[in-house]
Amino acid sequence: MTTPYIGRFAPSPTGPLHAGSLVAAMASYLDARAHRGQWLLRIEDIDPPREVMGASELIIATLADYGFFWDAPIEFQSRRSAHYQQAFDQLLAIGQIYGCACSRREIGERIYPGTCRNGMAAGAVARAWRVRTCGQRIEWQDRWRGHFIERIEDDPGDFVIKRADGLWAYQLAVVVDDGLQRVSQIVRGDDLLESTARQILLQQLLGLPRPTYLHVPVIRASDGQKLSKQTGATGLSRSAPLAELAAAARHLGLGITGADSIAAFWQQATLTWANRYLTGENLPGS
Ligand code: GLU
Repeated sequence: MTTPYIGRFAPSPTGPLHAGSLVAAMASYLDARAHRGQWLLRIEDIDPPREVMGASELIIATLADYGFFWDAPIEFQSRRSAHYQQAFDQLLAIGQIYGCACSRREIGERIYPGTCRNGMAAGAVARAWRVRTCGQRIEWQDRWRGHFIERIEDDPGDFVIKRADGLWAYQLAVVVDDGLQRVSQIVRGDDLLESTARQILLQQLLGLPRPTYLHVPVIRASDGQKLSKQTGATGLSRSAPLAELAAAARHLGLGITGADSIAAFWQQATLTWANRYLTGENLPGS
């Protein structure tokens, strides 16, 4: 029996939905619909310092206005802490994580030098918790971007799953939730390519199945930065969804012309996606 297709869109409520996040939402939605699969919506609200008040509600309302339908009740990561704790305990029990007393200033560069890997200095208190990486080579295939082999120990090194401020790190929460929600296909922006190897390692350590990955090109601001609130992206208009949908489709290489309603747009776009991208053979880079 083949695994049922379950896809998802997992926005962080750090601002309203913008043209860039619409592209990621659209790609995951079209791929799920083209496969006649399920599509889930999960709000990744585990980082209160970065959260913008009202953003979750606005994202959900905008997606509904744009004609997205989710196939199960929306999950909120802020309510799922017990699951992350359970995964943390599991990793602790098998000796795959350790407490780290280093401050950000002490680490300095991006790659963790392994200072606390064999134990913290006497009397030191754990600030963050890190995964012990052991030279594993993570090999994976992206449906759009092709083949990757990465050695996490070299970059970024032992990575954080519980932060010094006590919050769960994105890497742990996303792996636990994708696993528990049985997500079989992850379709998202290519700004998350570099997180994928870490997520696959966590799946292996937690005994979770590995989903298939497809990373679509994100929209970049003129200076090459990912479009975000910080780079001046404005929220999507809720009154002119068709124009915004057509622009996002163009970015994904789908020319949708003449759709005069949201329903007609999704019907055409799903068909075009299915014809062009379903097998993966026609994806650029593969
Ligand atoms: N919450 C993440 C973000 O908004 C995306 C998570 C994912 O798709 O894996 O950047």
